[in-house]
Amino acid sequence: MKKNVLTALTILLCLAAQAQQIQVIVPTPARTVKSSTGSWVVFDTQISSREAFTPKSLEVSGEEGIKYSSSTFEPLRSDSTAFVSYNWVPTSSPETPTQLNLTFLYTVNGQEKELNRAVAVSGESPLEIGFPLRPGIWMAGNAPGPTSEHTKLTVKMKEPSFDSLQQGYVLGHNAQRYAIDFVKLDKQGNLFKNKGASNADWYSYGEEILAAAGGKVISVKDGIPEHQTPGKLDYKITIDNIAGNNVYIDMGKNVVALYAHMQPGSIKVKEGEIVKKGQVLGKLGNSGNSDAPHLHFHVVDTNNIPFAESRNGFYWEGIPYAFPKYTSWGTAPADIWDTDENGNQLVKPFHFQEKEKVKNTIPVNFEVIKIK
Ligand SMILES: [Zn+2]
Repeated sequence: MKKNVLTALTILLCLAAQAQQIQVIVPTPARTVKSSTGSWVVFDTQISSREAFTPKSLEVSGEEGIKYSSSTFEPLRSDSTAFVSYNWVPTSSPETPTQLNLTFLYTVNGQEKELNRAVAVSGESPLEIGFPLRPGIWMAGNAPGPTSEHTKLTVKMKEPSFDSLQQGYVLGHNAQRYAIDFVKLDKQGNLFKNKGASNADWYSYGEEILAAAGGKVISVKDGIPEHQTPGKLDYKITIDNIAGNNVYIDMGKNVVALYAHMQPGSIKVKEGEIVKKGQVLGKLGNSGNSDAPHLHFHVVDTNNIPFAESRNGFYWEGIPYAFPKYTSWGTAPADIWDTDENGNQLVKPFHFQEKEKVKNTIPVNFEVIKIK
């Protein structure tokens, strides 16, 4: 009898402990990323519990003098039981740290609490690929870095998946973590001729999109109309049309590249086809969730989730990549896109100075690069 009471008590205590337990999960391994302006260790943390809590800060420390703190958390559930933080931890050393130490500070029922855990950093280098467009001057809009719009988009899964290694639930995935929106500039730094009021005014429009690496075409979507006026969406955006006309290419080892927002009817490859590096895939357009003609490009690890179960690729995880060489012309202001009420580009022309030749790096947010 006594033993039974004890067992029941133990179970109750375990349940109580579980209810309070906060889980800090890193949905995909932390990676070191080298850009033309510096290096980061990049990872997301998904923090969840069965009861409501208030996140305060995430402190990160590690080898090579790494010190970083963030107090920005975005809710993953409306009842304050899950949050995500997107961490771009600057590192000045060329050495890749092997591990970071996290201290998460939060309050629950008015009580301040602390949770510590270690995060392993992958020693894998970013994947080296070719440039997905023809030579020219290209701006890397919304490119990797802590300020990019792309990097902060976790798509929640219908059912969280249990990660037995981390002993916690992965709530969603961030496929666009290292995505870039490529837009072409002329030599004077203009995005378009005339007033940019039609797609054809934009220098990017109709540019050929090239396979950044060889592989197998695993999905082609075509037939989505283009928006006729840059800056104006002609139809509602859903998860099914968000990438517009697009191609997914499996480059091997669960690594897949996405080429999005293409012109309808321009796609030259078929599902199942094997393509070579540099092969023309189609034409740059203004379909899907697109403000103006541009190529959205990103690379993901599928984590063995087949395309059919990947919610159009949004359950995959963005991984870093690098272009072999380009010339950096500096960084454009974020309002380069903005126009006045008459449709005139607000800041122009840009007098970009040829700055430096860089190798094996990824462009940062609004960096203007020249590809030879
Ligand atoms: Zn994009």
